[in-house]
Amino acid sequence: MDNKNKKNDPNHNRQGWGIILVTTLLVTFMVMGLYSLMRGSGPEEISYDRFLTLVDEDKVERVSLSSDRIYITLTDEGRQEELEENAQSGSVGSMMQRLQEQIQTGTSGSAENAREQEREPDYYTGYVNDYTLVQTLEKAGVEFASQPADTLGQMLLELFLTLILPIGLMAAMLIYLMRRMSKGGGMMGIGKSNAKMYMEKETGVTFQDVAGEDEAKESLQEVVDFLHNPGKYSGIGAKLPKGALLVGPPGTGKTLLAKAVAGEAKVPFFSLSGSAFVEMYVGVGASRVRDLFKQAQQMAPCIVFIDEIDAIGKTRDTALGGNDEREQTLNQLLAEMDGFDTNKGLLILAATNRPEILDPALLRPGRFDRRIIVDKPDLKGRVEILKVHAKDVRMDESVDLEAIALATSGAVGSDLANMINEAAINAVKHGRNVVSQKDLFEAVEVVLVGKEKKDRIMSKEERRIVSYHEVGHALVTALQKNTEPVQKITIVPRTMGALGYVMQTPEEEKFLNTKKELEAMIVVALGGRAAEELVFETVTTGAANDIEQATKIARAMITQYGMSDRFGLMGLESIQNRYLDGRAVLNCGDATAGEIDEEVMKMLKGAYAEAKRLLAENREALDKISAFLIEKETITGKEFMKIFREVKGIAEPEESEEGKPEEREGRIAMKPVSE
Ligand code: ADP
Repeated sequence: MDNKNKKNDPNHNRQGWGIILVTTLLVTFMVMGLYSLMRGSGPEEISYDRFLTLVDEDKVERVSLSSDRIYITLTDEGRQEELEENAQSGSVGSMMQRLQEQIQTGTSGSAENAREQEREPDYYTGYVNDYTLVQTLEKAGVEFASQPADTLGQMLLELFLTLILPIGLMAAMLIYLMRRMSKGGGMMGIGKSNAKMYMEKETGVTFQDVAGEDEAKESLQEVVDFLHNPGKYSGIGAKLPKGALLVGPPGTGKTLLAKAVAGEAKVPFFSLSGSAFVEMYVGVGASRVRDLFKQAQQMAPCIVFIDEIDAIGKTRDTALGGNDEREQTLNQLLAEMDGFDTNKGLLILAATNRPEILDPALLRPGRFDRRIIVDKPDLKGRVEILKVHAKDVRMDESVDLEAIALATSGAVGSDLANMINEAAINAVKHGRNVVSQKDLFEAVEVVLVGKEKKDRIMSKEERRIVSYHEVGHALVTALQKNTEPVQKITIVPRTMGALGYVMQTPEEEKFLNTKKELEAMIVVALGGRAAEELVFETVTTGAANDIEQATKIARAMITQYGMSDRFGLMGLESIQNRYLDGRAVLNCGDATAGEIDEEVMKMLKGAYAEAKRLLAENREALDKISAFLIEKETITGKEFMKIFREVKGIAEPEESEEGKPEEREGRIAMKPVSE
C-alpha cells in the first residue's frame, strides 16, 4: 500500500485520529491543571460582607484595590485568629494551608520578617460600588492603595499559559504524528524499527559449507552468476530472476544456502522472518515490506532472505473474515517484487516448509519463479554433512562417519551438526581430547531419544515388564524374514519419554518398502505388547507408541499404497504438509472411511496374532534374553543373537562374528515404550 492509499484507508485514519485526540486532551488537561495550580495557591475569595466585618474587627492590615477586586492582607494577630477560628470549624482553605506552611517554615515568625517580605494578600473579594469604603478604611486605620492594572507582561503571560502553550503543544504533537504516519511507520513507530532485520556485510559462507543438496546448489550457482555478471544476461535480453523459493523441511540448510549465495556472490545479506511483518495493526506489515525493499535497493547488489514466508504468503482468502492485514502485506510484497529493477543486483530468497499454502500469485514468473527443493539428505548427503561438521573436531581413527550416516536415516543437517557437537562435548566430559565412534553413537541416541535418565528408578516389576516388552520386539524382528537385524536393546530410560528401546540396523539405505516388509514392521511394532500379554497376562500403557506406529503403517498401506485386497489401487488419502508432519487427509466418503477403519483393524489383529504366535513358540528364548537384559540393562545385537542361537540350536555363522560391528550399526528404528 502506498502513501496515497494509506491516507484513504479508513482503519488507519481512524486509529491515527484517535491517538491525536487522546494526546490533545491529555496535554490540555495538563496545562490547565498546571495553570490552576499556579493560580490556586493565591488568595482565597471571601464575601464583601465578611471583608467589612474583618475591617471592623481590626484584623486587616492592608488593602489593595484593583479594577475588579479588593485584595486583603491581614494583620499578624488577625491571621492567627482566623487560623484558630477555621481550625475550630474544621475548614481548611488555601489560605489556611499557606498560613500553616508559613508557620512551619517560620516565615511569619516575627512581624519584621513578614513586613520585610511584603506579604501576599490572604483574601480577595469582588468590587462593590461602595463609596463609603475609603472612609471606612481610613477610620479603621487600614493602609490602602490602588493596584495598577495588570501589566502587559502579565496579560501576555496569562495568554501564553492558557492559550498559546496548549495549542502549540497540540500542534507539535499533531505534526509529529502525521510525519511518522506518512513515513509509513504506522502509529507510535510500530512499523519502522521493530521488524528485526539482520544484515551481514559478508556472510563468509560458501557452497562448500553446505553439504549434500547438490541440486539446490546447482540452481543457486546460476543465480550467483547472475549477480556476478548481470550484463551478460541482460545483454541478450534474458530477464534476471527476482526471487527463488527454498522449499524443504526445517533444519535442512535453507538459511545456510541463502547465506552461501550471498557469500559466493560477495554481496551483503539481509535476513528477516516472515512473521516479523505480521502485526496487529492494519498497514504496518505493508509498510515494513516497503521499508525493507527501500533499504535493500539502497544496498544493492545484495540478497534479501525472508524466512518462513508462509507467514505472509498464505493464500488470500476470498471468504469473509480474511485477514486484512496479511493480505495487504502480501499485496505490498507482490507489488514491490514486480517493481524493483533486477539490473541493480537485488535478489530475494525466501524459505518455507509449507509450499502448498502459498498464494499462487507469489509463484508467478517475475516473482518467486524458481522453486528450489532442499529435502532431507540421503545417505551420501548425510555423510558429507557429517564430514563438513567433523572438519573442525578432533576425531580418533575409530570414527566411521558412514556408519553414523547409516544410523541416522531421516535426520536433517541441523540434527547431524548437533550430533557432532554433542559427541565432542561428551568426549570432553569424559576427559578425552578426541572424539571416538562411541561418543558419536551416544550422541545419535541423545539427539534422537534424549539423554539417559539416571534418576528414574523403575520398580523391579516395571523393569521386568519393560525388558519383556523390548525383547518381544527384538525377538519378533529376529524371527521374521523381512526385518532389519537388531543392533542394541536397552531398558535405560531416556529423557524423551522412552523407557527402553530396540535399535535396528538396515543393511543399506532403502527408498522403497515391499508389502512384506511393511507387514513385518507392523508385527514387530506389536511384538512388545504381545510379549507383555503372553508373560504377565495383562497389558500396560507402554505400548501406546507402538500401537500408533502400527496403525499408521497399516492405514497408509490401505489408503495410500494400494496394498489391500479390499480397496485395491484406490487412492483414499493424500498427504498434506509434506515437509512438516506429513499429515494425511481422507479423500473418500464417510461410508468408505468406516470400511477403511474395519480393514485397518483386521490387519492389526492379524499382525498381533502373528506376533503372539511367534513369541509363544519361542518362549524359552524370550525368557532367557529378558533375564539377561534385566541383569545387564543394555545388550548388543551380538549378545542377543548368541542366546537366540543357543536356544534355537543354530550354529554361529563364522564371518558375522568378526565383521566390523560399526558397519552393522544402523538406523534406530525406535520401538520405545512410552511412559
Ligand atoms: P533451515 O533454514 O532449513 O531450517 P538452517 O540453514 O538454519 O536450516 O540449518 C541449521 C544448521 O544446520 C546450519 O547452521 C548448519 O550448521 C546445519 N546444516 C543444515 N543443513 C546443512 C547442510 N546441508 N550442510 C551443512 N550443514 C547443514
